[in-house]
Amino acid sequence: MNNIGLIGLAVMGQNLALNIARKGYSLSGYNRSHETTEKFIKEKVKDEKIYPYYDIKSFVESLEKPRKIILMVKAGKPVDDVIHELLPYLDEGDLIIDGGNSYFKDTDRRIKVLKDKGIHYLGMGVSGGEFGALNGPSLMPGGTKEAYEMVRELLLKIAAKTDSGECCTYVGNDSAGHFVKMVHNGIEYAIMQSISEVYDVMRKVLKLTSEEIGDIFEKWNNGELNSFLMEISYKIMKHKDDKTGKPLVELILDEAEQKGTGKWTAETSLDLGIPTPSLNLAVVGRTLSFFKDDRVRLSKMVNRNYPENALNKDDVVEDLKNALLFSVFSSFSQGMWLISEASKVYGYGIDLKEVLRIWKGGCIIRARLLDFLMEIISEDNANLLLDAKSVKFLEEKIDAVKKVTKLAKDNYIPMLTVNASLDYFYSMSEENLPANLIQGQRDYFGAHTYKRIDMDGIFHTEWQQD
Ligand code: NDP
Repeated sequence: MNNIGLIGLAVMGQNLALNIARKGYSLSGYNRSHETTEKFIKEKVKDEKIYPYYDIKSFVESLEKPRKIILMVKAGKPVDDVIHELLPYLDEGDLIIDGGNSYFKDTDRRIKVLKDKGIHYLGMGVSGGEFGALNGPSLMPGGTKEAYEMVRELLLKIAAKTDSGECCTYVGNDSAGHFVKMVHNGIEYAIMQSISEVYDVMRKVLKLTSEEIGDIFEKWNNGELNSFLMEISYKIMKHKDDKTGKPLVELILDEAEQKGTGKWTAETSLDLGIPTPSLNLAVVGRTLSFFKDDRVRLSKMVNRNYPENALNKDDVVEDLKNALLFSVFSSFSQGMWLISEASKVYGYGIDLKEVLRIWKGGCIIRARLLDFLMEIISEDNANLLLDAKSVKFLEEKIDAVKKVTKLAKDNYIPMLTVNASLDYFYSMSEENLPANLIQGQRDYFGAHTYKRIDMDGIFHTEWQQD
């Protein structure tokens, strides 16, 4: 009898299976296409106790009870298909763990259906890509505490480790784990977009080569901006193409793809009424990038008057660093506020500091900045901006962000996310927004009413009598 089962032996499943087996567990593996299983066993499995199965019944029968089965299949219908296939063979008390990037509302639905059948279910965010899956990912499991306890020891063993402990914690009730993973990805989109925008200014305004930008990113990675995404960015900038010897990044088509988690984060932020403009604009940035043909056509139609100011390269680089820090902080701050609101609305019971802690290792958004965020976050202070230390941190960088965004505008360079981060801060720290005029307009054309600043009550005006 094997300790645990894993279904879905694509890149993530294979690496997670190896990680689990290397921690001393025996594992039954199953994949819909048998060739993938055979190839995996032949090429990747050495001494690990990983055993292949080619039909669901014998796969399930190979597991010790209560059975624990991890799904690492494509999000969406495939998860329902696999659950449907498994159900006839499962017993009450068995546990299914969905480790894919499932939409949190799907996870809630599955938890409900399976609870009625006595099957435990965990929706678990897994971050770190294939390397993380193999060497220690960040794990974000949500569901019942009882279900978590069934696999707690195993999850802690396979998770990444940092000086603050294992990068795995019981995130919260129901779909809390998948919700947190979704927002993690939303933040990931925003950080990637911010780094790319800074890169764009460096290459187009400062005329730096990819190699030079790589050197600057590497230097930044040794300081406050230290993070996985900064690290891979400098390595990407320095990577030479085998075929041409040119920096490979310069040969990659500028159309950024997406699988949905960033879009879900943006949609959910609108549903819950929490502003996350940097995250939303990062999704828009990817969508825009896809209109390559239109962009090429328009670029030939638009006249541009470039400024001729002499720039001090080192000063601009320093400003770009601070603008990036500002935008990264802002992105985390918006994401954490969204998680906090969801925790209240959906009753997740999420410990925000724990979420930041388990993001410190293994995952794609791991960053030195998380230590600072952990210092200031609390349940009563989910909006990280409302803290004197945050205000100081951001204020110190405001001049740099202003200079960078102006420089970008003067040079026709879009900075969707960095601009959104600045406007977010301006909006959130502005006593008087022009929403009074919007309320007047709404009342004018739709009798939607408005409140006044000088008296209580709800008012409507017959504007057209003017
Ligand atoms: P994919 O998302 O590409 O999914 C491929 C796997 O899903 C294969 O095993 C495939 O089986 C299986 N599958 C697809 N449709 C069905 C179906 N109808 N019934 C049964 N099995 C099906 O693989 P990844 O390894 O990239 O990701 C797995 C999960 O982990 C996804 O949810 C993904 O979003 C998530 N994830 C991925 C990360 C990454 O870096 N790639 C990082 C973090 C999470 P078959 O071989 O038969 O087609």
